Amino acid sequence: MSGAVAQLRGEAEADPGTLARVISAKKEVVGYGDFSPASQIRVRMLSFGPDEPGPDWLTERIAASVARRSGDPLIGETDAMRLVNAEGDGLPGLSVDRYADVSVLRFSSAGMAARREIVSDCLRELTGTSCGFERSDVASARREGIPSSEPLLWGKAPLGPVDIRERDRRFRVDIETGQKTGFYLDQRDARDLVARLSSGRRVLDVFSYTGGFAVAAARGGAARVTLVDSSQPALDRAAEHLEANAPGTEVHIHRDDAFAFLRKHGALLEPAGTLREQDGAQDLIVIDPPPLARRQGDVQRASRAYKDLLLHGIAHAAPGARILFFACSHHITPDLLGKIVFGASLDAGRPLRHLADLGAPADHPVAVDHPEGRYLTGVLLEAD
Ligand code: SAH
Repeated sequence: MSGAVAQLRGEAEADPGTLARVISAKKEVVGYGDFSPASQIRVRMLSFGPDEPGPDWLTERIAASVARRSGDPLIGETDAMRLVNAEGDGLPGLSVDRYADVSVLRFSSAGMAARREIVSDCLRELTGTSCGFERSDVASARREGIPSSEPLLWGKAPLGPVDIRERDRRFRVDIETGQKTGFYLDQRDARDLVARLSSGRRVLDVFSYTGGFAVAAARGGAARVTLVDSSQPALDRAAEHLEANAPGTEVHIHRDDAFAFLRKHGALLEPAGTLREQDGAQDLIVIDPPPLARRQGDVQRASRAYKDLLLHGIAHAAPGARILFFACSHHITPDLLGKIVFGASLDAGRPLRHLADLGAPADHPVAVDHPEGRYLTGVLLEAD
């Protein structure tokens, strides 16, 4: 966006958090936004039109975000959810995840980080959570020149993992060291779907992290769950989760590179492309890799990697198996994902049917004027 800014006035005096007025080439006021001197994204728009946001815009928007989620049936029964989703809630640079009694805040713009105190006070009051903890992403902090600060924003930091409850599933979340802010809240809808599809099924959870999908499958009555991830701490926690949620389920845990794991079993494919009946066959497969395309330049290489995963994933699919396949990057659009799926199906010699599109749940809204906010794309497929 810096290429979209022709001229800056008063830049030297502008502290982070000062609102910038954006004026078009025709000298009309486009709107107001957060100015970030160090960032590629010079201005994050907060309002459009000639009127400046009112003095309480920040606290009002936070309060509205929290209120919108309260009792929303699209979110359903859970004590863990995203309370603020940056641009999707009109609050660029701020994400807030609630885990039971703890709020985890993520600042990703200099302007928002400069408002730490007011944001914290507001959330503390609105949520009544006994602890506020900051988990700002290191890379964006560096990009934006956000000074590091004490992670504890209010209350007392939890001594260990935080227990959350989503439907009939319980998880333990490491807010200090876990991935993202500790848990993949954005896969809640897909976990519900997996629970519905798992009864009596053999389920493979690839890139399992702490086993969100495996737990949903086990609670849904899976005959067997198999997990693959490269992280031992994540797998240790997954084993704990399975024991706590569904003791007695047959569980297989593999610490391995997911690409290598899937390929090893590719040998089980007969030359004609049909799967021999064997122990590794799966009826439900979830493939949820980390972001493989962080920037536009990565898209080609990432597309090949995604295709590789699905191609070799298909080799594990029993006849009629369902596959949930995700890409977690706004550069991989639903359209491109469809092409990747088609390529994998063709190369595997295995017809696939597209049953549904998948994505982030309602507590991760996307502003229609900010499509980049749609980062999670997924599909539910059915193998022949
Ligand atoms: N499905 C998970 C989230 C997956 S996040 C959930 O719903 O909670 C991506 C996971 O991939 C992380 O746990 C990370 O440890 C793992 N990972 C990254 N690269 C990997 C690789 N090459 N092979 C296996 N696992 C990998």
